[in-house]
Amino acid sequence: GDFAKEVDTLVIGSGPGGYVAAIRAAQLGQSVTIVEKGTLGGVCLNVGCIPSKALISAGHRYHNALHSDDLGIKAENVTLDFSKVQEWKASVVNKLTGGVEGLLKGNKVEIIKGEAYFASEDSVRIMDEKNATTYKFKNCIIATGSRPIELPNFKYSKRIINSTGALALEEVPKKLVVIGGGYIGIELTGAYSNLGSDVVVLEGGKQILPGFEKQMAKLVERKLKKNGVSFHTEAMAKGVEETEDGVKVTAEIKGKEEVFEADYVLVTVGRKPNTDELGLEQIGVELTERGLIKVDKQCRTNLSNIYAIGDVIEGPALAHKASYEGKIAAEAIAGEKSEIDYLAIPAVVFSDPELATVGYTETEAKEAGYDVTAAKFPFAANGRALSLNDADGFMKLITRKEDGLVIGAQIAGPNASDMIAELGLAIETGMTAEDIALTIHAHPSLGEITMEAAEVALGTPIHIV
Ligand code: FAD
Repeated sequence: GDFAKEVDTLVIGSGPGGYVAAIRAAQLGQSVTIVEKGTLGGVCLNVGCIPSKALISAGHRYHNALHSDDLGIKAENVTLDFSKVQEWKASVVNKLTGGVEGLLKGNKVEIIKGEAYFASEDSVRIMDEKNATTYKFKNCIIATGSRPIELPNFKYSKRIINSTGALALEEVPKKLVVIGGGYIGIELTGAYSNLGSDVVVLEGGKQILPGFEKQMAKLVERKLKKNGVSFHTEAMAKGVEETEDGVKVTAEIKGKEEVFEADYVLVTVGRKPNTDELGLEQIGVELTERGLIKVDKQCRTNLSNIYAIGDVIEGPALAHKASYEGKIAAEAIAGEKSEIDYLAIPAVVFSDPELATVGYTETEAKEAGYDVTAAKFPFAANGRALSLNDADGFMKLITRKEDGLVIGAQIAGPNASDMIAELGLAIETGMTAEDIALTIHAHPSLGEITMEAAEVALGTPIHIV
C-alpha cells in the first residue's frame, strides 16, 4: 500500500533558493524535508555560478602567464592541460555540493532524492527510479529553478551547446560562436577567449550586456576585442549545419546573411522557469504569461500554504536573489513579518573588467523623479588598481541632491563584485555620501575608490581635479 508520509515544510529543489530556505526553516524550528531530482546545490553550484567562475579564473591565470610582459615577466613553454582544469573545477563544485549536504544534515533537514509533482494542494508525489511516494505537507516552497531556452533551429547536441555543455567541454574550442551577449554568454566568451579560443559573439540587440549602462558594456567589449573576440550586434542567428568536426552557423546581420564556421556554437539566449512539469495547473497555482509563479511580498502564491522563490518567480535570475527569497519564505511560514525588498540587490558580471551595479542608475533615478548627483571616479587614479596593473574602469556613485543619500552605484573594474557590497550596505542602511567620505579606507586599496567617489559627490575629491 501507499501510505502518505507527513512533513511540515517541504522544499522542492535544492539550489541556492531551496537549500537556504530549508536551513532557515529548520533554524526556525520547522521539521523540513527537501527533495532534489538532480544534484544538491542546483544550477548555481553544479552548472552555473561556481563552475563558470572556476573556468574564468583558470582563464585569467593562463592569460596572465602568457601576457605579463608589461611587468617584466616572460614565461616560456606555458602549457594548458584542459582536462586538469576540468578536474580542478569539478573538485571545487564537489566541495561545495558536499558542503550543502553537510549543512542540510547538520540542520536536521531530511533529504529525498526524486522528482516532485503536485497531487493536491497539500501533497506531492515524489518519484525516484523505483517508487512513487506521496508526501503530505503543511507548507511547501517551490524552488525548482530554470533551464536554458532552446532555439527551434538550434537543437542541442554535441556541438550545439548551452551553458551546461560549455562548462563541460573536454577541449578548448579553436573556434567558438556564441549566440547571445547576455551576462552568461559574455562570461563564457571571456573564459574561453582567455583559454585560447577564437570567439565570435552574435547579439540580436544593439548592445551586449543589456541591462548595464552602455559605457560599462563598451569597456568589456573593448577588452574582449583586444583579446581577439569579434562582435556582431543586430545579428539574428538563423540556423546551423552540424558537420563531423564542427558547425556552420548562419546569421542575418543587419539584413545580410553570413556564415560562421566553428568547432562549437554556444546558445545563451535566456532561461525559462521549471514550472511546466510540476502539476501546478491542476492545483490552480497562478502563473504569469512567461510561466513564472505569481507571488506576494512574502513569496506566497495564490494558495496560502504554497510559496515560490528564485528563478521560478519574477525578478533577476540570480543566486543571491533566490537565497534572499528563501529566507523570506521560511520566515513567513514561521509567522514572521519578513517581506521582499529589492532596493539594494546587486547584479554582477564576471567579465574583464568586472561590472557591478546596485540600486538606481543615473537614468533610472532621473526617470523616478530624483534630482541626483552622479559622481564618477576612475580606477586609473587609484594606486592599488595601478599596482595590480588593472586600472581600466570607474565607479559611479548616485546620490540624492537634497540630502546626499546614496541610492545607487555602478562599478566597472577589478573586484567590482566585492566592492559593490559596501554600496549595497550604504543603500540598505540609508547612508549619505558624507558618511562614506568620513569612513577611513585602508591605503592602498580599491575601497578608496568608493571613498573618493563620495568625495566627488561632495565636491572635494583629493586625487582628481
Ligand atoms: P536552481 O539553482 O535552478 O535549482 C533548482 C533545483 O531544483 C535543481 O537542482 C533541479 O534539479 C531541482 N528540481 C527542478 N524540478 C524539480 C522537481 N520537480 N523535483 C525535485 N527537484 C526539482 N547567478 C548569480 O547570482 N551569480 C552568478 O555568477 C551566476 N552565474 C551563472 C552562470 C551560469 C552559466 C548560469 C546558467 C547561471 C548563473 N547564475 C548566476 C544564475 C543562478 O545559477 C540561478 O539564478 C540560481 O541557480 C537560481 O536558483 P534556484 O534555487 O531558483 O534554482
